[in-house]
Amino acid sequence: MPLGEFQLIDRFFRACGADRDDVRLGVGDDGALLRTPPGDDLVAVSDTLVEGVHFPQGSDPRSIGHRSLAVNLSDIAAMGGVPRWALLSLTLPSVDPAWLSAFASGFGDLAIEHGVALVGGDTTRGPLTLGVQVLGSVAAGKGLRRSGARPGDALFVSGRPGEAAAGLASLMARGLADLPAAERRVLEARFLYPQPRVALGQALLPLASACIDISDGLVGDLAKLAAASGCAALLEVDALPRLSALDAVASRPYALHGGDDYELLFTVPQARAAAVMALPDVTRIGEMRAGSGVTLLEGGRTSAAAHAGFDHFAG
Ligand code: ADP
Ligand code: MG
Repeated sequence: MPLGEFQLIDRFFRACGADRDDVRLGVGDDGALLRTPPGDDLVAVSDTLVEGVHFPQGSDPRSIGHRSLAVNLSDIAAMGGVPRWALLSLTLPSVDPAWLSAFASGFGDLAIEHGVALVGGDTTRGPLTLGVQVLGSVAAGKGLRRSGARPGDALFVSGRPGEAAAGLASLMARGLADLPAAERRVLEARFLYPQPRVALGQALLPLASACIDISDGLVGDLAKLAAASGCAALLEVDALPRLSALDAVASRPYALHGGDDYELLFTVPQARAAAVMALPDVTRIGEMRAGSGVTLLEGGRTSAAAHAGFDHFAG
């Protein structure tokens, strides 16, 4: 007998993710009842993945489950928040228990890793679309913003931006065919299973002046941070972390304009830059200046960066 909507929710999503004491009422009623930490600000984020737009048709459902939560946890990380609860709006073309089981374990394993409870959602029929909201908390008034950078602040990035885009190119057979299979798999995993920088975001609360997560490409997201802060950014291209398995020339376009990294890009007043250098897996890649826009510094020469951030509605 085919699974109905309610059996489906019951079987795959009633006990998905972490158990939390602050969930008074989770999946099953008209709404969830959640106890918010007294005195904290609530951090609310939402991100949607559409098949064929945000991931290739026929992707591994475990990866889709992981990514649908990871992209939201990355937004929480960029605010310096502690993630607590998630909602999942699932639109499915049909009910396939094997697909749902793999999807729910990809979502649930990452949720457990970050202590997030799935507390509700919605299930409908239609083209495969995953809408996720995550709610979390941050000390009142302390949440990181894009708008706090000032001229003179040092610019940092976590991880190695560009690896996810290189991995997607490999998955789609759009390049990197001459790399050994094992090295391609490492890059592909960056796209399929991004690791949101939640602990780093929280560590940056007393240190960073501004923060954004890189979803649409380093240069494009840096331009957003600079514009929100009313500053210019100088990006030292030669300081960018090189992608594993690629040389500097092959790395460059992925590092500057690739998307889907879910790394953090952040600014720090010079007096606190040394404290940030002590954090794991962060690289200093430039500084903020007076003015506007993004300037690339490369081989001693400067040039204005082309804006190549991804825009769903750009013609
Ligand atoms: P309503 O019609 O009142 O919105 P539903 O029948 O859609 O309620 O959902 C029943 C319960 O199951 C609700 O608590 C809802 O939050 C939850 N739910 C529905 N779909 C999902 C899902 N994909 N993941 C988690 N919880 C879900
Ligand atoms: Mg209802």
